[in-house]
Amino acid sequence: MIIKSAEFLISNTDVKKCPSKELPEYAFIGRSNVGKSSLINMLTDYSKLAKISGTPGKTQLINHFIINGEWYLVDLPGYGYAKVSKKMRAGFSQVIKSYLKKREQLTCLFVLVDSRLEPQKLDMEFMQYLGENAIPFVIVFTKADKLTSSAMSKNLTAYKKTMLKTWEFLPQIFISSASSKMGREDILNFIEKTNSEIL
Ligand code: GDP
Repeated sequence: MIIKSAEFLISNTDVKKCPSKELPEYAFIGRSNVGKSSLINMLTDYSKLAKISGTPGKTQLINHFIINGEWYLVDLPGYGYAKVSKKMRAGFSQVIKSYLKKREQLTCLFVLVDSRLEPQKLDMEFMQYLGENAIPFVIVFTKADKLTSSAMSKNLTAYKKTMLKTWEFLPQIFISSASSKMGREDILNFIEKTNSEIL
């Protein structure tokens, strides 16, 4: 997919105020500092579309962008940052939950995880929640440039093994790096293909 345009539309905390056009929607989420803003900027080729976090975890906003006039890209709040209030830290906020449950046109959620880390409890719990609520998702490993390819494949194998303890099928997994643009084509092609199946 070629990105011809990427425009910011609205930020809010209320799912009812999200844009009303019935376009396919792809949302990005992960623990604070996972590299979500960097990935969004890399995918859209707009270096400042999503704000690279200065104070991670503080903003609990649902940010809508429209891409090529055809689909929505949503930057969701990060979860699990230790310095935010206990209520927010206890998993993921009400803002996130109500968005995930109520946004009917959510086509696929991209769950970002840091390639360097072993499976994190919070991410596992989050994906469990997605499964229980039948929310379609894929996983994106971020910051792949920070490890060697053999370390990457070792981590990937371990990650899959952990997931298979509770999941019968694995979700699709992408490997990405905002600095090298690794994964860009795969992710955009996935969105393009999914759009072509539903539009
Ligand atoms: P967010 O809080 O999830 O939106 O994360 P950011 O996009 O703000 O990134 C957090 C930090 O990780 C920043 O210092 C980024 O420069 C860095 N970062 C993000 N993606 C990558 C990547 O692919 N490679 C490397 N080396 N650093 C990254």
